[in-house]
Amino acid sequence: MPADTLVEPALKAGKRNLLGSPPDELVEFFGSLNQKPFRARQLMRWLYQRKVLDFGAMTDLSAGLRAELAAVAELTLPRVLSVEASADGTRKWLIDVGGAQAVETVFIPEPNRGTLCVSSQAGCALDCAFCATGQQGFNRNLTAAEILGQVMIASLELAPTPITNIVFMGMGEPLANYDNVVKVVKLLLDDFSFGLSRRRVTISTAGLVPQLLRLAKECNIALAVSLHAPIDELRDKLVPINRIHPIAKLLDACWQYAEVLASRQVTFEYIMLQGVNDSTLHAKQLAKLLVNRPAKVNLIPFNPFPGSEFRCSEPAIIDQFIQTLRSSGIVATIRRARGDDIAAACGQLAGRVNDRRKVKLGDKLLGVVSV
Ligand code: SAH
Repeated sequence: MPADTLVEPALKAGKRNLLGSPPDELVEFFGSLNQKPFRARQLMRWLYQRKVLDFGAMTDLSAGLRAELAAVAELTLPRVLSVEASADGTRKWLIDVGGAQAVETVFIPEPNRGTLCVSSQAGCALDCAFCATGQQGFNRNLTAAEILGQVMIASLELAPTPITNIVFMGMGEPLANYDNVVKVVKLLLDDFSFGLSRRRVTISTAGLVPQLLRLAKECNIALAVSLHAPIDELRDKLVPINRIHPIAKLLDACWQYAEVLASRQVTFEYIMLQGVNDSTLHAKQLAKLLVNRPAKVNLIPFNPFPGSEFRCSEPAIIDQFIQTLRSSGIVATIRRARGDDIAAACGQLAGRVNDRRKVKLGDKLLGVVSV
């Protein structure tokens, strides 16, 4: 592949793509053009509230400034390769991120809300045994423009239906792409941009403890943790990052995080894998870890994908598992699969990962990807 195909188009043209730049970076950018900080707010309003991507149409900026902006900057969305619609109303976009790679974004409509599930990486290095993205290996972190671009593409297409919630539960491990994910989170929360409340933006992580502790200090949005097993021996196999950050350390970090949360509750995701982690003993062990803590459990029936070696637990077993949790004083719910007819359900997102590095935790991760 010629080296220049790896360069973002925006950089090739020598223009800066302002999409996804957080408020403080925009203030700095306008400063470099000898403009006042409030210009950043004006731009964000046009871009994220009115969804205007053309500097020329931003009529409260002077004609001179509009021309200057068009000369040095751009507002470029990633290209959509395809859109699929599920029988249940779920929608999935395949989005080109260059170098023959593509990531997926999913919209899940519900009676009182509309949730967008965004990807943060092309592929994933964490190699969780039950996840389609993990099987692809890791290619690279998405830029803030590519992450925020997913939100823009979906909101433009869905209008007037609003996106009320954003979850970082698509492809990739959001905390392994910390800086870019936090830039996007700042825009999602900013009143001059999307203005979403902290409870409506959720990061889901397999458990990167140092980044989790940092996030607790920097932005206290809702947190979901992919626990999936109540003992290290099993979690080491299912979620290999556990070998670096074991359950006790992860839970300590979660309780610290909960201290700063408005809702004060961390959601623990627990995938139901037949004969693997779904016994009554597992439920009791899980309850023991979480009882009297600011925690709730979301059971996720396993969603199969081509080549997956697991099966989903039987409904009666899932029922028994949730009853055991509830009778031990744990709040627990079951996540209904959405969009599984278009492979848009949890863990089914594969996109197109041009896997040049084939980095997986199971092989050798350290030193290549920060965990
Ligand atoms: N890297 C983040 C985001 C992953 S996707 C994380 O690990 O949390 C969001 C959720 O889907 C995670 O809980 C993940 O473990 C779960 N998941 C992955 N593969 C799945 C599958 N095949 N069926 C059901 N859930 C799955």
